[in-house]
Amino acid sequence: MQLMDTLRQEGVRDERVLDAMSKVPRHLFLDKAFEEWAYQNVAFPIGCAQTISQPLTVATQTSLLDIRKGDKVLEVGTGSGYQACVLFLLGAKVYSIERQSGLYEKTDQLLRELGFGLIRTFLGDGYAGLPRFAPFDKILVTAGATALPDNLLSQLAIGGHLVIPIGDEDSQTMWRFTRLENGEIRSETFGQFKFVPFLKGIQ
Ligand code: SAH
Repeated sequence: MQLMDTLRQEGVRDERVLDAMSKVPRHLFLDKAFEEWAYQNVAFPIGCAQTISQPLTVATQTSLLDIRKGDKVLEVGTGSGYQACVLFLLGAKVYSIERQSGLYEKTDQLLRELGFGLIRTFLGDGYAGLPRFAPFDKILVTAGATALPDNLLSQLAIGGHLVIPIGDEDSQTMWRFTRLENGEIRSETFGQFKFVPFLKGIQ
């Protein structure tokens, strides 16, 4: 598919991630008005003033997570559900939280209709994470944070990665935090991105 070639040209190297992305019908995850452009490397509105991430952003975040079959993954910011499907197709057990009830309901229904009913969706504030189901092998934040939330880091398993964009409202740096065997946290950065804001509370 042409979108995957574009992503390869943009430097995406993880073929497993591209394969999973090519199996998710992106045109079903965004506003109908934008359907014909769904396979371009562009972010689009999904309702409730939110967007489905640009494919390059999805590919980058997913590659950084290094998903292994059976990984328990927490996604913060369900949005359209597209990213959750990519994680699921890579073999993850996906737990995804959304703070906006309108999106939560619409996406939960869509995931069921498309056969992704095993993805567990939650209406809640992602700042709290999901302590009931912690620890998670991988944690992914798909909204732009201003700082690293302690709650999320504390729900990360040993050996696990937490991928989160951190910055101001115009631009965020992609961070990956890894909990090492000795208990230390390793941090790495991977360039600048632009996300919708990570907001507190549910709506
Ligand atoms: N992963 C999504 C991207 C959606 S955009 C996709 O594949 O489409 C980011 C989403 O994060 C928005 O839907 C927004 O409502 C949600 N969000 C922002 N702050 C949040 C919070 N504190 N808890 C849960 N979700 C949040």
